[in-house]
Amino acid sequence: MSETRHTKVLIIGSGPAGYTAAVYASRAMLEPILVQGIEPGGQLTTTTEVENWPGDTEVQGPDLMIRMEAHAKAVGTEIIGDIITDLDLSERPFKARGDSGTLYTCDAVILATGARAKWLGLPSEEKFKGFGVSACATCDGFFYRGEEIVVVGGGNTAVEEALFLTNFASKVTLVHRRDELRSEKILEDRLRKNPKIEPLWFHEIEEVYGADNPLGVEGVKVKHTKTGEVTDIPCKGVFIAIGHAPANELVKDTLETHMGGYVVTKPDSTETSIPGVFAAGDLTDHKYRQAVTSAGMGCMAALEAERFLAEQED
Ligand code: FAD
Ligand code: NAP
Repeated sequence: MSETRHTKVLIIGSGPAGYTAAVYASRAMLEPILVQGIEPGGQLTTTTEVENWPGDTEVQGPDLMIRMEAHAKAVGTEIIGDIITDLDLSERPFKARGDSGTLYTCDAVILATGARAKWLGLPSEEKFKGFGVSACATCDGFFYRGEEIVVVGGGNTAVEEALFLTNFASKVTLVHRRDELRSEKILEDRLRKNPKIEPLWFHEIEEVYGADNPLGVEGVKVKHTKTGEVTDIPCKGVFIAIGHAPANELVKDTLETHMGGYVVTKPDSTETSIPGVFAAGDLTDHKYRQAVTSAGMGCMAALEAERFLAEQED
């Protein structure tokens, strides 16, 4: 039988934005419920060293997220392992349906569903997903010990993944569509100094190819973006690191979005186009997309939810 749970504040998402919102909402005695989603801890659980979280010169992403969860729990947040599949914002109390069957009702909601990896969209990429094609070096790098690997992209993620994969691979080719990286300079320096990494500028993946039985990648065909020339790179693993798109499925038809689906919030605020609905972190942020900025927005969302609820009682 499905259960109904009511809370003043429902927090959807368990990345830095969600857990920070939980800490602030709990300390404001709002007794929030936080629903973790399919990736408890969020994107940082897919990386290794985080070197820009203030207070930690270096911390492992998964460890940092375990600490955030423990902090939220310690101050009184109820943390639930469920996935919200449907969100009705047409009237208050808002209604969120969990994959478990539970119906969550709430007076205010904080959306912190973050972002997800983008894919190239090639049929051959789809065919070999999980069989040589991956978007998570920390999850899958270990399978490619002594093998050649291709990483696609030119941002922080691609450079970090390429560097990390040199722990396993005999060679990493970084395929980028331009000849300029958009990663931080410190990472670019490390990349250029690493003898195992070979950048391949002005190239895009045209096809991933491999064996059918058993399914496995054997290489990629890459095309020069200017000359159109196609060449072949033999490899066993292909890591796609071309950015992330906001996880807006729950609200894309009900809230205003912009810049490719990011939820619009009012200036200097986490308020969305619906009163009582707040959005924080990568779901709203097309510009910074950092753990610390997400956490900051989580704090803002909880404080704004507290103020909103107080005004309802006046
Ligand atoms: P996310 O971390 O994306 O978490 C989203 C949460 O929402 C997840 O818990 C998910 O399960 C949940 N969710 C989604 N949909 C639902 C649903 N329907 N129901 C319930 N829950 C749902 N930033 C840095 O500052 N430093 C770094 O070193 C750094 N390294 C990175 C390395 C990698 C490989 C990647 C991918 C990102 C990195 N980032 C880094 C960026 C950083 O991870 C993000 O900016 C940050 O995690 C965003 O936090 P968030 O809380 O908005 O969302
Ligand atoms: P990103 O900064 O958006 O970079 C995406 C890269 O992929 C770009 O170089 C882009 O090329 C390329 N690309 C996009 N679509 C492509 C396509 N269809 N085919 C080929 N190439 C394509 O994404 P990200 O690297 O995932 O970073 C996302 C956010 O997380 C950033 O804000 C980043 O700072 C943050 N992050 C931070 C850290 C850290 O602080 N250490 C680590 C990881 C991520 P162009 O350059 O030509 O556009």
